[in-house]
Amino acid sequence: MFEIENLHVSIDDKEILKGVNLTVNKGEIHAIMGPNGSGKSTMAYVIAGHPSYEVTEGSIRYNGEDILEWEPDERAQKGIFLAFQYPTVIPGVSMANFLRMAVTNTRNARAEEAAANGGSVEKMAPREFRKLMREKMALLKMDDAFASRYLNEGFSGGEKKRAEILQMALLEPSLAVLDETDSGLDIDALRVVSDGVNALHNDEMGMLVITHYQRLLNHIKPHFVHIMMDGRIVQEGGPELAHELEAKGYETLRAEFGVPA
Ligand code: ADP
Ligand code: MG
Repeated sequence: MFEIENLHVSIDDKEILKGVNLTVNKGEIHAIMGPNGSGKSTMAYVIAGHPSYEVTEGSIRYNGEDILEWEPDERAQKGIFLAFQYPTVIPGVSMANFLRMAVTNTRNARAEEAAANGGSVEKMAPREFRKLMREKMALLKMDDAFASRYLNEGFSGGEKKRAEILQMALLEPSLAVLDETDSGLDIDALRVVSDGVNALHNDEMGMLVITHYQRLLNHIKPHFVHIMMDGRIVQEGGPELAHELEAKGYETLRAEFGVPA
């Protein structure tokens, strides 16, 4: 479903990703682990279509189509979702309004595309949206009062991450990229967020879980683990690889693969 091939990415003429290969099929959960600065967020941004990063070589294909030509909003409409490592604060825009815009825009775009292809996807009515939002907020144990607060303003680390996952719950992506969704979470919040993610994951959804630490993977169980260092995936395996890594540490791995610190 989703295929990254020989991806090279630069920013300000500095090469960050140096030939990344990765395939994610429907229903699979892939963990991307790696030390700080290895290029994990860069990969997430490039998938979402961040304009500052330049793809100098390679391709990203989604259901057989080259997505690098698509604008970020088009990628979202087609079902690609990124939960940010550092969610943006947007004073003056309430969570409810932001989410309603995001959801109706993607849903309506899908409805139009379905109609053009002879199928049918319902547009979203405002009342339906409210109901759906309440349901998903309950799933993530978020207080109703959140809906009227400005987006991420004064949110704790855990609240920001919940807000990202709430967005994912409402957008129902087919490829979800979660960038360090565990950072800043205490144990309880980690459980709530992971339970939410697990409840949302289904056989149609591919998922990329980016994390520095193994602990998140005790809650969200990956089928495959990839270790990124210095812009490359240096090692791949099953869930056991995350545990090995935790035992060894990144420093040992650096030495093993001759990666400079
Ligand atoms: P990770 O998410 O694995 O910690 P990043 O993708 O954030 O790594 O960063 C990888 C490398 O790219 C780092 O050396 C970082 O300093 C550099 N980098 C990322 N974004 C930018 C940017 N906007 N401008 C300059 N350098 C950047
Ligand atoms: Mg990062």
